[in-house]
Amino acid sequence: MSLVLHGIGVSRGIAIGRVRVINYARPSWREESITPEQLPAELQRLDAAVAKARENLQDLQQQLPDSIRAQLSDFINTHILMLADQLLVGKPRQIIESELCNAEWAVRRNCDALVAMFDAMEDPYLRARKEDVIHVSERILLILSDQAQPDNASGARLRGCIVVAEDMSAEDVVLFRQREVAALVTEHGGRTSHAAIIARSMQIPTVVGLHRLRRQLFEGELLIVDGDHGVVLAEPDKKIIQHYEKKLRRDLRHRAALARLRSQPTCTRDGVAVRLQANVELPEDFAAAREIGAAGIGLYRTEFLYMNRDLPPDEEEHYAAYCAALQELAGLPLCIRTLDLGADVIPYGQASVLPDQANPAMGLRGIRFCLQEPALFLPQLRAILRASARGQVRLLVPMLSSVEELQRLLSILDGLRREFDAQQIPHDPAMPVGGMIEVPAAAVCADSFARHLDFFAIGSNDLAQYTLAADRGNDQLSHLCDPLHPAVLTLIGMVLEAGRAARIPVTMCGEIASEIDYTRLFLALGLRDLSVHLDVLPELRQCVNESTIGELARWRRRIEQARTPEDLELVIAALNAAGPGEG
Ligand code: PEP
Ligand code: MG
Repeated sequence: MSLVLHGIGVSRGIAIGRVRVINYARPSWREESITPEQLPAELQRLDAAVAKARENLQDLQQQLPDSIRAQLSDFINTHILMLADQLLVGKPRQIIESELCNAEWAVRRNCDALVAMFDAMEDPYLRARKEDVIHVSERILLILSDQAQPDNASGARLRGCIVVAEDMSAEDVVLFRQREVAALVTEHGGRTSHAAIIARSMQIPTVVGLHRLRRQLFEGELLIVDGDHGVVLAEPDKKIIQHYEKKLRRDLRHRAALARLRSQPTCTRDGVAVRLQANVELPEDFAAAREIGAAGIGLYRTEFLYMNRDLPPDEEEHYAAYCAALQELAGLPLCIRTLDLGADVIPYGQASVLPDQANPAMGLRGIRFCLQEPALFLPQLRAILRASARGQVRLLVPMLSSVEELQRLLSILDGLRREFDAQQIPHDPAMPVGGMIEVPAAAVCADSFARHLDFFAIGSNDLAQYTLAADRGNDQLSHLCDPLHPAVLTLIGMVLEAGRAARIPVTMCGEIASEIDYTRLFLALGLRDLSVHLDVLPELRQCVNESTIGELARWRRRIEQARTPEDLELVIAALNAAGPGEG
C-alpha cells in the first residue's frame, strides 16, 4: 500500500527516485574531553576534515557548468583560501591542544568568537566576511560529524535522487540542479518563494509544505513526486510505479509536440495578437527562450548574478552578462529588472550588506535598498544603459511604492544619460523604463506612476502577499496568499485601466501568469501581454490560439462580480469548461 502525502506542487513534472534527506539543521556540537593520548588523533581528524572540505570545494568548482562558473567561482575561491587561514583553522588546533577537547567543539567555539568580532565591526565589507566564516566553519563541522550538505555531497550520491529537506534557499536549488537531482520536496516553503521560482525555471519537479515529512521517510526508499498535483507517494507498489512511468512518457511526448509549434504566432481565433514573453533567471534561459518562440524576455530577475558569490558583480560583469543575453536573444527585447535584494533573496556573503530587519519583506528591499546603496546600484544601472546600445533593452524597477522614489531613480538615470552623452558612451536615449506594480499603493496610484513610466509589469506574487498580509513563502498561509482574491483582482483591474488610459503596455509577470487555468480569465480581463515560465509557454500559446476574445469578453462582468475566491474559482471553471462560443 502506498502512502500518499499531499503538499503544494510548485514545479510541475513527475519524478521517481530514491530519497536523500538533507539536514540543514545544525546538530548540537557538544564539548567532549579527550585524553593527552587522544590528542594526535584528534588533531589529525581536524586536519583531515579541512583537507576534505578543500577537496569538496575544488570538486564543486570542476563540476560547474560554464554557464554559472563565473558567478560561483569567486565565492568558492574565497572559501578555499579561507581553509588555509590561520585564524580559521590554526586557532581550533590551539584550542584542542590547550583545552583537550574534541575538534567539533573547538571549531564551533572559534567560529562563535570570530562571528562576535565581525559583528562588532562598522565596515559593511568586513561584516560581510562573517557569512564566509560561518559557511566555512560549518562545512568543516559537517564533515567532522559526517553530515550531508548539498554542495559537498558527491554528484553520484545525489544524481537521480529525490532530495528531501526542511526548507531550501534559491541558491540551494541551483546547487541541487548541478547535482542532477530528480526532484525536490520540502517541509516548508510557498508557491511563489524564490526557491520555488528557480525550481520551476529549472524544471525540477518540486512539492513543498509537507510538514514533518522527514520523520515519515527513510533514506534510500523509493518515492514518486507528482509536481503537477502536489503529491508525494511513498512505498509505491508496482502498479503505481507503472502508472507514473507511463504518465512521465506521455508528458514528455506532449511537451515535445507543443515545442514543435514554436514558430506559430500567438494570436486568438479572432485575430487578437497576444504577447507571450518569458521570465528568466539564469544565463542558459535566454537561448531556451528564443528556441521556444518567446516574444522576448518580460522579466529578467538579475538577483541570480549576485548569488553564491562573495562580492557583488561590477559594472563590466553586469555589462558582459547583458550583452551575452542580447546576443542569445538575437534581436528579441530584454527587460532587465534591477536588483530586488531582500525578503527571501539574500545571497551568500552579502547578508550583512542588508541591515537586520524584523520584517524584511516590508523593509529595505528592491528599489528602496538600491537607492540607499548607490555603490551597489550604479554599476548595474550604468551597465543596463550601456547594454541598451546593443539591443532592445528595457529597464524595470521593482518594489515601487511612491512616485517620489521613482522620480529619484529617473533623475539618477537622467544624470547618467548626460554623463554618457558628454563622454560619448553609446546608449539608447529612449530606453523604455517600466515599473513593477507589486505594492498595493502603486496599484491604487497606478495613474500617477503611469505619467513617468513607459510600461507596467504586474508582480502578482508580491501584490497578493502585500494586499492580503500573507507571507508568500509560508505554506501555512498559502490558502490566504491567493492572487485571485477579489481584492487582488480589483487592484489588477485598476492597473490595467491606468495602463489603458495612459496608453502604456501592461505585462503580467507574477506566477499566476504561468497558470494555464487562468489564461482565459486574463484574456477576458483585457490582458494582452504575459511573461511566463519557459516550460509552460508552448501550452499557453496553444490555449491563446484556441480562444476567441469576442466570446471571452462576455465573461468579464461575471468575473468582476465574484465576491470571494471560491466564487471566482467557479466562474473560472465555467469559463474554461465553456467552448470558445459560449458565454
Ligand atoms: C512578483 O512579485 O510577482 C514578481 C514577479 O517578482 P518576484 O517574484 O521576483 O518578487
Ligand atoms: Mg516581486
